[in-house]
Amino acid sequence: MARVIDAKCRQCRREGEKLFLKAEKCFTDKCAIERRAYAPGQHGQKSGSRLSDYGKQLREKQKVRRIYGVLERQFRKTYAEASRSKGVTGERLLQLLESRLDNVAYRMGFGGSRSEARQVVRHNGILVNGKRVNIPSYEVKPGDVIEVAPKAKEHLRIKSAAESTASRGAPDWMDVDPKALKGTFKALPQRAELSSTINESLIIELYSK
Ligand code: SF4
Repeated sequence: MARVIDAKCRQCRREGEKLFLKAEKCFTDKCAIERRAYAPGQHGQKSGSRLSDYGKQLREKQKVRRIYGVLERQFRKTYAEASRSKGVTGERLLQLLESRLDNVAYRMGFGGSRSEARQVVRHNGILVNGKRVNIPSYEVKPGDVIEVAPKAKEHLRIKSAAESTASRGAPDWMDVDPKALKGTFKALPQRAELSSTINESLIIELYSK
């Protein structure tokens, strides 16, 4: 299976902002963006301002793909679904990405990063409404109960990720019990609740060409 293989911090530096790809390190001053907030490579410090409109649209799409760890083909599919559904396409796109099981598991603290949470899902570590689901792209629906499977509950990485997330607080659209490693996806997040650094209209312009 294809994988995203760029070093994670390099991806953040390419986009010029924190994408939170590396668990605890992202919340410390060891974060590469805290040290050098410009693109990697010889010309990295000069590259930001020269982008064409198309370049900006492309960069925004890459950034969102990287945040959610989704490959191009899957991202296009998600966009197509968002544009078919009722509601504002950009908001629906973000809601669909937020509804992915790997993302929900990450937001609930069952992995320190989305890629860690994806591993937990793939290794049969997550139950949805009491049933094992090992598909990271599985779409979680409002009201679904997500839980770490009994065998995985003793994994130290999961416990420590849950503790760290609990100390920062879970998002408002979820109810999480970090001790029980269990949570409810109460509702789809509204646009205002999601990152303000994402400009989804650039992605729509890109795909509407
Ligand atoms: Fe990005 Fe996290 Fe690396 Fe900082 S530590 S550059 S937020 S992956």
